Amino acid sequence: MSNFVWCHGPNCHASHTQDRIRGVKGSKVLRTRKVKQTEWNRDRFYSKFCSNSCYNDFANTYVREVIAIAPRTEALETPIDVVKEQVTDWSGNPYVQTKIITVDNNGG
Ligand SMILES: [Zn+2]
Repeated sequence: MSNFVWCHGPNCHASHTQDRIRGVKGSKVLRTRKVKQTEWNRDRFYSKFCSNSCYNDFANTYVREVIAIAPRTEALETPIDVVKEQVTDWSGNPYVQTKIITVDNNGG
């Protein structure tokens, strides 16, 4: 069982870095990076991309297809209460803090 995948960045193989160079003199190439599969990156985008740059390239190239998976046709809303609280700072001076508290309207 392999413990890596190839980076899905569409331009990964075109970045000029030393670690991407493969082959012998006269027939060298820049190769897509391997992405090691670990507990840390399991089910995260870092398990498919070697860098933020490759992730951004992929997202920008395939944004239409990605959005088609779960299109947003209307705004979502989270019920809240806005509460003013009297608190003190680190040196004991009072000030008013505005807190946003999520309200559970689903019988919670
Ligand atoms: Zn990459």
